[in-house]
Amino acid sequence: MPHRVLNFNPGPSALPLPVLEHAQKELLDFKGTGMSVMEHSHRGKEYEATHNEAIALLRELLGIGDNYHVLFLQGGARGQFAMIPMNLLAKNQHADYVLTGAWSEGAQKEAEKIGAVNVAATTKVDGVYRRVPKPSELHLSSEARYVHITSNNTIFGTQFHTFPETGSVPLVADMSSDIVSRELDVSKFGVIYAGAQKNMGPAGVTVVIIRKDLVESGRTDIPEIFQYAPHAKANSLLNTPPTFSIYMVCQVLRWLKKEGGLASIGKVNQEKASMLYRAIAEHQGFYRCDVEDDSRSIMNVVFNLPTEALEKQFVTEATQAGMIGLKGHRSVGGIRASIYNAVTLSDVTTLVEFMGAFEKRHR
Ligand code: PMP
Repeated sequence: MPHRVLNFNPGPSALPLPVLEHAQKELLDFKGTGMSVMEHSHRGKEYEATHNEAIALLRELLGIGDNYHVLFLQGGARGQFAMIPMNLLAKNQHADYVLTGAWSEGAQKEAEKIGAVNVAATTKVDGVYRRVPKPSELHLSSEARYVHITSNNTIFGTQFHTFPETGSVPLVADMSSDIVSRELDVSKFGVIYAGAQKNMGPAGVTVVIIRKDLVESGRTDIPEIFQYAPHAKANSLLNTPPTFSIYMVCQVLRWLKKEGGLASIGKVNQEKASMLYRAIAEHQGFYRCDVEDDSRSIMNVVFNLPTEALEKQFVTEATQAGMIGLKGHRSVGGIRASIYNAVTLSDVTTLVEFMGAFEKRHR
């Protein structure tokens, strides 16, 4: 058995062990072709089968309707911060942005370069975000080209548990850190986008699920590579796609289906998160989570210890115990346990036990 750590990295992050083992097995000889998938042409039938299987699996797992395209693009979620307004917004138009963290601010900045942005809500207080807004707090405008949200805020550990109703205005969601982590009604959204590197695979590929009418009405006065329509027309084979990343996404989605799909993984994810929040509550006075109860993320659990020195010690001792990736984002400090799909209930149990023992040693 190779040496493996318990990986709580925020992204790129843990991948399911059976997926890594399968990829290792196939690495030198993909489907009996005598070469790795990385060495194949993206126009060949062997690669294309994997490409199409990944798209089909995503459609099946998320229940994506025929009125949506599923695209595999490059440039990460940040690329989508730009591509969405480039395609859907013009100088004399505006879009609504709901600000719930650093990533939504990043998306807003890019949109402001293209058109006008109306901040529909912000939950920032004294420089930090501890919750997502309630529906009644949103100042949405019926004239907006779209409403942009970040469904899960990877840095601040907050998450939308119900989505805003936007009527006929398309809802656009950055789901980089919670896609395929729970059941989802895709039909509520105009666009869903996510970098693969948390719940779906390695870095290098960005999934975009976009309603066909939005693709068709997209701007054509921007360079072709940044338009959705040519990518959709070419089934994401307009230019050379990140073939190995897409291959890995396919393997992860196969694994997810075998595990029982989104209903099943959603339950496990809820249980993992509840265990951690319960542990924090049980050790009140030592561990502290400042995120409001109904905004707490089931993917990124952030918490603090009484002092920064203790937080540093926590990370050091956790690393010694074989648990990595627990340091909070550099902009906010503290501790963050990222517990994406590939992090098991047993991994979280080990972390919770460690938290109890650490408190006893350092209280
Ligand atoms: N949005 C969210 C919610 C994220 O967590 C991240 C990365 N951590 C990004 C956007 C940026 O993603 P990328 O590096 O793929 O551009």
